[in-house]
Amino acid sequence: MSSFLSFAQLCQRVEGVSGSLEKIELVASFLKDLDDDELEVASGFIMGEIFSPSLDLVMGVGPSILYEAMARACGCSTERIMEWLRSTGDPGLVASMAVENKKPIGFAAFIRHDPLSIKEVHQRLLTVARASGKGSQDTKVKNLQYLFSQATPLEGQYIARLAIEDMRIGVGEGGVRDAIARAFSRDPSEVERAYNLTNDIGLVAVNARRGTLADLSVQIGRPIKMMLAQVGEGISSSMQELGPAAIEWKYDGARVQIHKDKKRVRIFSRRLEDVTRSLPEIVRLAQGVRADEAILDGEVVAMGKDSRPLAFQEILKRFRRKYKVEKQAKETPLHLFLFDLIYLDGNSTLDLPLTQRRELLEGIADSSILADQVISNSIQRAEEIYRQALDKGHEGLILKNPLSSYTPGKRGKNWLKIKPVMETLDLAVIGARWGEGRRASFLGSYRLACLDEATNKLLDIGWVATGLTDGALAELTDLFQDLILMQKGMEVELKPAVIFEVAYEEIQKSQSYSSGYALRFPRLVRVRDDKSLEEADSLERVASLYQGQRGRNNYI
Ligand code: AMP
Repeated sequence: MSSFLSFAQLCQRVEGVSGSLEKIELVASFLKDLDDDELEVASGFIMGEIFSPSLDLVMGVGPSILYEAMARACGCSTERIMEWLRSTGDPGLVASMAVENKKPIGFAAFIRHDPLSIKEVHQRLLTVARASGKGSQDTKVKNLQYLFSQATPLEGQYIARLAIEDMRIGVGEGGVRDAIARAFSRDPSEVERAYNLTNDIGLVAVNARRGTLADLSVQIGRPIKMMLAQVGEGISSSMQELGPAAIEWKYDGARVQIHKDKKRVRIFSRRLEDVTRSLPEIVRLAQGVRADEAILDGEVVAMGKDSRPLAFQEILKRFRRKYKVEKQAKETPLHLFLFDLIYLDGNSTLDLPLTQRRELLEGIADSSILADQVISNSIQRAEEIYRQALDKGHEGLILKNPLSSYTPGKRGKNWLKIKPVMETLDLAVIGARWGEGRRASFLGSYRLACLDEATNKLLDIGWVATGLTDGALAELTDLFQDLILMQKGMEVELKPAVIFEVAYEEIQKSQSYSSGYALRFPRLVRVRDDKSLEEADSLERVASLYQGQRGRNNYI
């Protein structure tokens, strides 16, 4: 049986090396020596996935539970913990400091305990996640408290990170997949395929060891990674690339994968979270599909009275709603547009060409819940459909290769998305937030503002996280060092002097920011060191871009 300490030591070593190959090598040699149960758990732990997705559990541990548990286990005050947090910015390091300074009280004083094992930590975290309803806060705190009371400082560090499902050791999904392939001498593409089909890294690891990866397949009730679209180089070159294409609107909504097993329906979001309870009208529509078993892929759209899609936030509200769901469903009804079929009555349809999948889909679903599709090789026809989509307030087109199979988790040339080019905004940087963990000495995200020309005031419009390399982040941090006006916890107020050019998916109305707007998916294009503060984009321009989104009409 492997100790949790050996896992924590692995994490420490992995965190300490920068090369991804080195990281993968370390993880692979660790996984190789575990028994099946440990392998299943540890493969998920490494990427911050604590439970098999089939358990459909969420940890439900926020800062207050975590720090309360540390404080109780280690006999220190939450104020002390908050001080450590301010100085390190890293809950993991805070846990290791708390354990280091532990006064032997409570569990630790009375019980001599064998070293924690990987399985025991997993079991405790399961208990934490399963606690619900009255008294659940207390159950969560007590179980975490128990773990911290038994932990060494290094173990404490990674228990805290597991509890918040954020390992920060620089190994993501791809890294763990490669480590599994390496540990058990399997082809990485075989591991990737199995993972995309099952979305369950523990299951994949165990099957990789046994040599049974090929046996893993689509299964009703287990979400599979969605096929994704690549950006097309404009309509004409995309049409030329595809030859005849299946032309579909790119509906302005949210992706859903629907699993129908007789009358039982489960709906998964793009991130493969179970959202069934929030979407009762979609459940009813799926129940009407004429198949015993099916996995359907499509988009749900919130439509206003004018039959135009509502802003994305409205859909988000629906997806997140847990109570009074039917009321919300009446206020913001969703429409369903199915465009693919993954499984039908006992058989995977993944490897059939799109045209056949579509034919089967048309056989089981009413046209009222199907995405429109035209197969054509005419550029002119594609342009017409594109204009219709934009006129109706949708995003553009998805052009699909009619002969292509369904490739889960892949962003490939078989689906090309065509959208209008979004304008960028030049915004003043008025604040920033220190990074966490390894990036604690860098400013990682930046608060942006536009200029209200009427009052000459800068009004905030949200944050952009840069997604930059450490080197570039250090440079940016340097740039802002002399502009720091005030430190407020993890945030700093900056003297406005620097302009960022920022791209985004959409402008939304928002009460969170003084401009009254927020950017969806902002990303830093470049630092406009050629521009002065007065040249920041105005509130008026933001407002007019917001209006213009409703009638997008230029395309790549
Ligand atoms: P993007 O999110 O920009 O990468 O675009 C891909 C997304 O477009 C998919 O994940 C779907 O949510 C959405 N979408 C809308 N209409 C379609 C369609 N007809 N076929 C495929 N995806 C669509």
